[in-house]
Amino acid sequence: ISRVVIIGSGQAGVECAAALRAQGFPGAISIIGDDPHLPYQRPPLSKEFLKSAADSSLPLKGEAFYAANNIDLCLGVAVHFIERDAGRVILGNGDVIPYDHLVIATGARNRFPPVVGLDPDKVLELRTLADAQEMTSRLDQLRTIVIIGGGFIGLEVAALLRQRQVDVHVVEAADRLMSRVLTPMMSAEFANIHREQGTHLHLGVVAKSVDGSRVTLSQGTTINADAVLVAAGVVPNVEIAAEAGLAVQNGIVVDELLLTSDPNISAIGDCSLHPSRWGSGIIRLESVQNAVDQAKCVARRLVGNPAPYDSLPWFWSYQGEAKLQIAGLGQGMDDAVLRGDPATGKFSVFAYREGRLIAVESVNSAADHMVARRLLAGGRSIDRDVAGDLSIDLKSLL
Ligand code: FAD
Repeated sequence: ISRVVIIGSGQAGVECAAALRAQGFPGAISIIGDDPHLPYQRPPLSKEFLKSAADSSLPLKGEAFYAANNIDLCLGVAVHFIERDAGRVILGNGDVIPYDHLVIATGARNRFPPVVGLDPDKVLELRTLADAQEMTSRLDQLRTIVIIGGGFIGLEVAALLRQRQVDVHVVEAADRLMSRVLTPMMSAEFANIHREQGTHLHLGVVAKSVDGSRVTLSQGTTINADAVLVAAGVVPNVEIAAEAGLAVQNGIVVDELLLTSDPNISAIGDCSLHPSRWGSGIIRLESVQNAVDQAKCVARRLVGNPAPYDSLPWFWSYQGEAKLQIAGLGQGMDDAVLRGDPATGKFSVFAYREGRLIAVESVNSAADHMVARRLLAGGRSIDRDVAGDLSIDLKSLL
């Protein structure tokens, strides 16, 4: 392989290029990204960026990195087609770039739920730097906001806006917050945290219509808001892969080596649907950990050291004073144990399936999180009585 082309200049794409160089790959590397900005981190967009209303970007690597590592960065232009037979990609500006190996790292875009009158051009969203800049430019005028979606991003923004005295309404279709990722026990604690901050939670409710500044919810409530933020999850960017005839479902289907149905094409990050022993069957993850570790996995394979992708999933979300960290995947849990007292603001929930530890959710308890990562990655479980006993130092179990 002498030429690797990477589609997508996000976390996974840039990490893949960097990992290839770190592993000693001597060939040509091109990154093609439709976002015009120097590749940046997304997590701060809903955290530090909004807090300080900064207008500088949060680069993944400094500008000099790309030249120093001979990485060709082609920004502000999309790949329109993948021509697999010819081994090349066609860009929106007509350029044609050949590849020996192609890495698809196209990420995901925000999902817009079917709400009558919801115009994607008139509401706020938070995926790109441009989205965050628009949001910060409107912060000073913001008095009341409706946030559609009670997931990580919606709640991070809710907590920050409450610090600025904005009246915040979170509308969540599920009957609990962050239901896709958290145990019911932790969801309930976060509902308390947000209610205590003064956020209005509308759970088990959907936004039915948006009419100018009026948002009507399914149970009849009407809210007059100056802004609507849509934070209702994402859809993976799979279209160019599907058009090229690659296997696609809710993500681009890859095997344990992160290869698509074409041995010359890998898919990594938010767009990849991969087999995982940590979840059930094939899963798609939206996290920095997954993007970075998948990028490294592909880079290792491309320099001749293939190994299946097997990293333990972990996540974080900072919501006001509550720093949530999650190790493992809690789906399918049938038992949960609380460690510590939520009233102290420092506690963890240990999730079990059939008596085995599968995930640990920690709030302001970095030590629990680090122990959990090591236990789970090592395939170890701990007894539920031990997990709940604060007098036992978990580090002593490692
Ligand atoms: P992306 O970073 O989305 O990059 C994909 C890039 O490919 C995009 O720039 C896209 O425009 C581009 N692209 C798509 N199609 C094409 C094409 N045809 N041609 C060229 N370019 C294309 N994760 C955490 O673990 N912790 C957090 O706290 C956290 N907070 C977040 C906060 C926000 C506001 C957001 C939006 C995400 C957050 N995430 C967080 C998720 C994390 O940022 C993503 O999982 C990660 O960015 C995924 O990397 P990726 O490279 O797969 O996708």
